[in-house]
Amino acid sequence: MADLQFRTPKGTHDVLPEDQQYMTYIKKAVRHRARQAGYRRTEPPIFENKGIFERGIGLHTDIVEKELFMVSGKHNADEAEKQFALRPEFTAGICRSYIEHGMQQLPQPVELYAIGPCFRYDRPQKGRYRQFHQFDLEVIGLRDPSLDAQLIHVVTKIMSDLKILKRLNLQINNIGSSENRAAYVEALKDYFIGKERNLPEDDQKRLQTNPLRLLDSKEEDTQILLRSAPTLDQYLSDESKHYHETLLEYLDELGIAYTPNAGLVRGLDYYNQTVFEFWDQSTGAQNAVGGGGRYDGLIEQLGGKPTPGVGFAGGLERMIWHMKEAGVKAPNKDHVDVFVAQLGPEAKKRCLALVSQLREFGVHTVGALGEASLKSQMRLADKFEARYTLLLGKMEVKEGTIILRDMRAGKQRQMKYEEAIPEIIASLGKENLDTYVLRDQMESSDD
Ligand code: AMP
Repeated sequence: MADLQFRTPKGTHDVLPEDQQYMTYIKKAVRHRARQAGYRRTEPPIFENKGIFERGIGLHTDIVEKELFMVSGKHNADEAEKQFALRPEFTAGICRSYIEHGMQQLPQPVELYAIGPCFRYDRPQKGRYRQFHQFDLEVIGLRDPSLDAQLIHVVTKIMSDLKILKRLNLQINNIGSSENRAAYVEALKDYFIGKERNLPEDDQKRLQTNPLRLLDSKEEDTQILLRSAPTLDQYLSDESKHYHETLLEYLDELGIAYTPNAGLVRGLDYYNQTVFEFWDQSTGAQNAVGGGGRYDGLIEQLGGKPTPGVGFAGGLERMIWHMKEAGVKAPNKDHVDVFVAQLGPEAKKRCLALVSQLREFGVHTVGALGEASLKSQMRLADKFEARYTLLLGKMEVKEGTIILRDMRAGKQRQMKYEEAIPEIIASLGKENLDTYVLRDQMESSDD
């Protein structure tokens, strides 16, 4: 690799045009399915007061303890002054926004979705970046298993549109109410009395700060000890059990396949009742494509009135990886229809207008407006893989003509200058022109 002075920071990557095609395709699927289901798009700021994440996600979670990407607006700020953090996910920010804008006044549930970059200052590895993209769906204001089922259904529709649903495995669990969990955590702590020393160091700490996290520990010693430990489902109330059974019935009704997973807890504090993840069929938990769950206590935790909610976040980079593995091609709309070549100052002037007119008609047009020879302009047209080339030299300007070359057929003919645009439009076919009416244009903004 070249010895460059500047590269992308560790854990970040340029989303180059090839991947933008995938990004756009995914965003379109998300927007389409979200709109169908009544979700409206929102976007919280990229950075928030760090307290929102500490309170919402939980102080003793990996995301907050190790992965918050801290920022300060100030130059020379010391650690203590870093009061902001880049968003590690959307849920906490969207719930803050729900409270701040009095959305409890709106008809409930309020369904919101967001798409954009998130940041986690984690050690980068395959499928794990410091800047990555999520799409996020939130249903706030009501508590009913049918909402959890419908949310999961929208996600499966998106994954199926992108042709990766078959590669994924929906894991689902119910972690009970906060009271259920508090009772279980006590039981778990009791069980580990006298056994702490057999736990790996990190898990010893977790036992103190966030014992539930032991359940999804990757440490073998921990998993062995857990085999005879009390299980969370023994502490679920009848109400929680009933909630979960009803949800599973609804999923059956919708024809959604799932795998019950009693060990699934998810790493964030705000969840209660339903939790679920979409795992890679082949590698399992390692590189989940997305996950979510119910968070009935979060809004209150952030200072709002008690308000239930359920949400999901999917990772775009991991989805793109699956699409590529599955051989799914995102449509490429970046092709060049016409390359305009010219020679001489008069021809150049005319070409400026010609290029602009072609573009207005929805023809993807690139103009060689430099001073290169016609021959090298033709080579360029080839490299751009243009379908047609229009050639305008000194002679043609004088005669009021132009040459149209079909690059695939390798044939060309001369025609009146005025005939060029109608001819191109007829050859490309009106249905292939890249034109928008205003309504589409607004909907198609791809940020
Ligand atoms: P989480 O809520 O932490 O499970 O994140 C939801 C989804 O976001 C994951 O399933 C991944 O697809 C994606 N994701 C989370 N963290 C990262 C990361 N560091 N790099 C890439 N994708 C990520």
